[in-house]
Amino acid sequence: MSYKKIILKPKKEESLLRFHPWVFSGAIQKIEGEPEEGELVEVYGTNGRFLGVGHYQIGGIAVRILSFEQQEITAGFWQERIRSAFTLRETLELVDTPTNNTYRLVHGEGDHLPGLIVDVYDSTAVMQAHSVGMHYSRKEIAQAIQEVAGDKIKNVYYKSEGTLPFKADLGNEDGYLIGGEEVDIAMENGLRFHVDWLKGQKTGFFVDQRDNRSLLEKYSAGRSVLNMFCYTGGFSFYAMRGGANEVHSVDSSSKAIHITKQNVELNFPGDERHQAYAEDAFKYLERMGENYDLIILDPPAFAKHKNVLRNALQGYRKLNAIAFSKIKPGGIIFTFSCSQVVSKENFRLAVFSAAAQSGRRVRILHQLTQPADHPVNIYHPEGEYLKGLVLYVE
Ligand code: SAH
Repeated sequence: MSYKKIILKPKKEESLLRFHPWVFSGAIQKIEGEPEEGELVEVYGTNGRFLGVGHYQIGGIAVRILSFEQQEITAGFWQERIRSAFTLRETLELVDTPTNNTYRLVHGEGDHLPGLIVDVYDSTAVMQAHSVGMHYSRKEIAQAIQEVAGDKIKNVYYKSEGTLPFKADLGNEDGYLIGGEEVDIAMENGLRFHVDWLKGQKTGFFVDQRDNRSLLEKYSAGRSVLNMFCYTGGFSFYAMRGGANEVHSVDSSSKAIHITKQNVELNFPGDERHQAYAEDAFKYLERMGENYDLIILDPPAFAKHKNVLRNALQGYRKLNAIAFSKIKPGGIIFTFSCSQVVSKENFRLAVFSAAAQSGRRVRILHQLTQPADHPVNIYHPEGEYLKGLVLYVE
C-alpha cells in the first residue's frame, strides 16, 4: 500500500480523533506527492500520527475519510461497508417485505461512506456519487452491492451527473453498471409508485419521507388536503388511503405532475377525489381559497450554502405564513425543510414568525426528522438534515 500523504497543521487533528470524517482544506499543512482529485490519501497529524485514509478532493472538504484504521481500500472493504448497511436495512424490515421494497441502502457519512448515496427500488439500486473518489470507485461498489444483496438487486444504475463537482469534468457517465432491465414500479408501505431514475429528481423518489407520510395518513380521514411541492405524489396517495375527502397535488414540474397522476391511478384507479396542478407554489397559494384543513409544505432546499441562509429563512417564513393565514380552523400543517444548512432551531424560528404574523393559535403536535434508513453518524451531526413540524391551527 502506498497512498500519498497529507499532513495537518498543528492542533487540526482533533476532529479526526473524534471520528468526524471531513478534513477541510484550511487544516492542511502539507500535501506529499501531488495526489490527483479522487485519489486515496492517508492523513497524518504534525506528530506523525496516522489519522485516517480517504478520498482526496479539490475544494472546501479536501478529504472524506473512509477508514480511521490504517488499511488498504480493497473490494473487501466495500463489501464490508455495504454488508453493514444492508444488514441494518434488513433489521429495519425494509428489504423486500410483502409491503415494502423501497429504502435508502447507503446514506453517506451515516453509513461510514462519505460521498455515496444508494437508494433501492424493488430490484434496482440507484447510486449517486457526491465525490470524485466515489465516482472512481463506482464499479467496485456496484459489484459489492450485488455480492451482498444477491438476487434481491438485479440492476445498479449510476446517476451522478448532477451531483459531481462540475470542475472535475468527468463527462457523461450516467447509466447501468449492472443489469438494465427496467421495472419502474416500487412499493412503499403497501402503496405502489413509478420511479423515473433516468430523468427524475435525486434518485427518482424522496425515500426520506416514508415515516412522515405514514403519520400523515393517520390525520387524513375526512380532510381536504393540499399537497404542496408534491413531486410524484408521495404524500397524496397516503392521504387518499387515509380517507381524505379530497386531495390536491401541486408542483411546478409538469413532468412530476404527470407521474403523480399515474401513481394515483396505479393505487386508486378512477378515484375522483384527486386533482393535480402544475403550478408555482406561491401563485397557487395566493389564489387558492380557505377550504383546506390539511396542508403539506415540502419545498426543495431553499438554502444549499450558508451564505444564502437569511434568504432561505425568509422563504420558509413567507411560505408558512400563507398556509397559516388560509388554513381552516382546526386544520393541520405538515411543514418541512430539507436544507442541511438550516438548523432545527432556525427552521422552527421561521415557522414561529410565520405563525405570529397570522395571529392564529398554533400548537406543535410532532417534531419530525428523517427515517432510520437515513441514519446520522453520531460523530457527524451535519448528517441530520430533514426537519418537520406538525402543527394544529385554531
Ligand atoms: N414532497 C415530495 C418531495 C418534494 S421535493 C415527496 O414526498 O416526494 C420538492 C419539489 O418542489 C420538487 O418536485 C420540485 O419540482 C418542486 N418545486 C420547486 N420549486 C417549486 C415552486 N416554486 N413551486 C412549486 N413546486 C416547486
